Amino acid sequence: MKNKTNIVFVGLGSNRGEKKKNILKSIELLKKYHQKILKISSFYRTEPYGCKNQNTFLNAIVKLKTELSPKEFLFICKNIEKVIGRKKSFRWGPREIDLDILFFGKKVIKSRILTIPHKDLHNREFVLKPLKEISPGLVHPVLRKRISRIKS
Ligand code: AMP
Repeated sequence: MKNKTNIVFVGLGSNRGEKKKNILKSIELLKKYHQKILKISSFYRTEPYGCKNQNTFLNAIVKLKTELSPKEFLFICKNIEKVIGRKKSFRWGPREIDLDILFFGKKVIKSRILTIPHKDLHNREFVLKPLKEISPGLVHPVLRKRISRIKS
């Protein structure tokens, strides 16, 4: 059976290699996997989160439409990270590319492999800023607040 279409927000971040290229290439790969890109935020230069002693990050957010299930979509994100050449690092360590599923329609998921909405998004300015830019009216399905009203 075909899944219904969902609007998904994906956070992209890079602080190793050619950061902008890594993000742009990830967006191209999302298109290649037949995801319909609806909006791309500006690119934001941000200080590292968690582990401070590393390069600054470049972050952006993409809004897209998908017919995939959350699990299938996660698989695609992991694959893109592999293609871009993400090497194993420690938690909050440097990375060529990181793809986080922020929202998946209005779904609320808590499984071993997936937490949606992304568990930390409301605490991260580098996620909230681009989200406020491209979708300020979006309502967080757990906090039940508009993005424009969430403060990190
Ligand atoms: P990371 O180190 O940020 O790439 O994330 C590691 C793992 O987090 C992934 O392999 C996923 O199984 C899990 N995960 C849980 N929730 C999410 C989410 N909303 N988006 C992306 N990964 C997630």
